[in-house]
Order: sequence, then C-alpha cells, then structure tokens
Amino acid sequence: MKVLITGGAGFIGSHLAKHCLLHDHEVTIIDNLITGNHRNIEPLISKPGCTFLEADIVSFDFNTLDSFDVVFHLASPASPVQYSKYPLQTLRTNAEGTHRVLEFMRRTNSPRFLLASTSEVYGDPKEHPQKEEYWGNVNSFGPRSCYDEAKRYAEAITYTYGTTYGIDVRVARIFNTYGPAMEPDDGRVVSNFITQCISGKDITVFGNGSQTRSLCYVSDMVHGLYELATRDGLGMEVINLGNPNEKTVLEIAKIIKTITGSDSEIVYKPIGKDDPQRRRPDITKARLLLGWEPAVELEAGLVYTVEYFRNLL
Ligand code: NAD
Ligand code: UDP
Repeated sequence: MKVLITGGAGFIGSHLAKHCLLHDHEVTIIDNLITGNHRNIEPLISKPGCTFLEADIVSFDFNTLDSFDVVFHLASPASPVQYSKYPLQTLRTNAEGTHRVLEFMRRTNSPRFLLASTSEVYGDPKEHPQKEEYWGNVNSFGPRSCYDEAKRYAEAITYTYGTTYGIDVRVARIFNTYGPAMEPDDGRVVSNFITQCISGKDITVFGNGSQTRSLCYVSDMVHGLYELATRDGLGMEVINLGNPNEKTVLEIAKIIKTITGSDSEIVYKPIGKDDPQRRRPDITKARLLLGWEPAVELEAGLVYTVEYFRNLL
C-alpha cells in the first residue's frame, strides 16, 4: 500500500512510519518539524520505500503528489506546553491543514483517511470513563481551546468529507500516550517526571496530584491506529484508543521515582486552568471492532521509556 503520514517525524508518527515500513508499505512523511524531530526518522528515511518531505501542510503544494491508499493525519502540536507555545499554528494545522489534506484526497480519489483526534475533545469530562458517545465538556475560550476546539473542528470536517464525498474516514480519539521518541522538553507528565528524576531535579506535580490520566505505551497505540486504518468496513467510525489503567498524577510521579531509583523530591506547583480532573477511556468499541487492547503494562513501558531518555540525555 501507498501510505501518507502527516506528522510522521513526531513521537507517535515516527513509530507508525516504522510499523508501516515493516509491513512493506511505501511510506511518505510530511512534517515541518515544528514539534517533531529529524532524529526520529533518520533510521527510516535511509530505507527504500520511505520518503520525507519537510513541509507545512498549511502551505504545502499537494498538487505535487499522487493518490495514496491510506492517509494517517497526525500533524499537530500535541502537548499542552507545545500547543500553548504555538496556538495559532495548532489552530491552522488542524483547521486549514486538515481541510487541505482532505481536499487533496478528494481531488486524487485517495480512498481512506484516519484522523488522529484526542481525548481532549471530551474536555474536562463529566462522564467517566469516557465513551465515544459522550459529547464532552470543553471550554471554547481558554488556554486549551486552541487545541481542543481545533481537534473538534478537524473531526467535523472529517465527518463532512466522509458524508459529502464518500471518503472512507475513521477517527481515532487518542488518550495519553508515552514512550521512546517523546521530546525531553515537551512538558508532558511522563517526559517531565523521567527527565527530572534522572537529572536529580525536583518532580513537579501540578495541583495536589489527584487528577488522573490513563497512560498507553506507544507500541500499543500504533497497533490500534494501524488496525483502525487498515480493517475494512470501519468507515465513519470514531474509536477511543488508550489504556484504561487509570492513575493519579501523584501515583505516576511515585512509580517513576521508584523505577529510576531517584532521590528527587516531589514538589507541588500551581495547576493550569481547565486541566482535566479525570480521564480514562472506555475501549469497549476498540475491543469489539478492532480486536484490540493494550498489552504493555505501565511499569514495563516506563522502564523502556526511562532507558530511552537515559541514552538520549
Ligand atoms: P508530536 O508533536 O510528536 O507529533 C506531531 C507532528 O506533527 C510533529 O512531528 C510536528 O512537527 C508535526 N506538525 C505539526 N504541525 C504541522 C504542520 N502544520 N505541517 C506538518 N507537520 C506538522 O505529537 P504526537 O504525540 O506524536 O501526536 C501525534 C498526533 O496524535 C497529534 O495529532 C496529536 O494531537 C494526537 N494525540 C497525541 C496524544 C499523545 O498522548 N501523544 C494524545 C492525543 C492525541
Ligand atoms: N503534570 C504535572 N507535572 C508536570 C507535567 C504534567 O503534574 O510536570 C500533570 C498535568 O497537570 C496533567 C497531567 O499531568 O494533569 C497530564 O499532563 P500532560 O501535559 O502530559 O497531558 P494532558 O493530559 O494534560 O494533555
């Protein structure tokens, strides 16, 4: 198959590109490296069947490309620190960028599209765990809205291209994912706590650490995304992908402190506005339609991730 991955030099995208190459697909990556890193794709782009285009999907001339069998659309800053640093780029990438990718698909009759959406479309959820039917509790005018609302728009335009032009679209609502190839300074909970622990700095827990997240190891996420994109008969489906193993942020800090054997102190810092209090995916639909569920235990995944950061830093 000919596969296009927007955002393929990022954390999840680079693992997905590797997975597709291992399945003998021809992979084209478009990435402007705003939050991704060339280091992630260096081992891939030297392989036959992998092409890297350093470009912004908001301005790239898609007329230079022919059709693809599957388009994985992952381009977007993803961590709160990064989308706060690049709010306009985040809005434009998910709105204009998604529109331009879908328009390219319509023009070239490219059949299948997977949108990397997010659990952030549920906002600070009032229902727990979050099912796909839940419409969310999102602030449209706040520090997270450049991401949350842009992703909600991306879902809406994906839906509309599916219904209007018959493109076989699928939406993955990705919950917090971690693993090797995360950027050490992306500000996410796992990368922050690991880099703090291995460099002997204080572990910064925001608020009192009682807010929860459910962390999914990246290889599990990539399997889920691949199944969702490649199985037949899933057009117009929206599916949560994530690990239902819910932990408080304080628990995550303690687990990482133990795994790294660190003497770092846990310190408490102010929590950001609209930080979701509880998050856990209901993955019944993924189990039923994809035969998928996460296989990597949190401690094991964190050990692999700590090893990655120890080698990197
Ligand atoms: P990432 O920042 O590592 O990867 C995103 C990639 O997109 C980067 O390489 C970046 O340079 C690229 N990009 C951004 N804007 C672009 C543009 N205009 N043109 C071309 N490339 C552009 O983030 P990630 O964690 O790998 O996330 C990948 C996708 O999954 C994102 O769409 C994100 O919203 C979604 N997601 C991730 C998580 C998670 O926990 N990692 C959770 C929910 C959703
Ligand atoms: N967090 C924290 N300390 C940090 C980084 C994050 O306590 O140094 C918390 C953050 O407040 C949030 C959770 O960890 O409640 C997950 O944050 P992250 O930025 O990884 O992703 P989010 O799920 O908020 O998008």
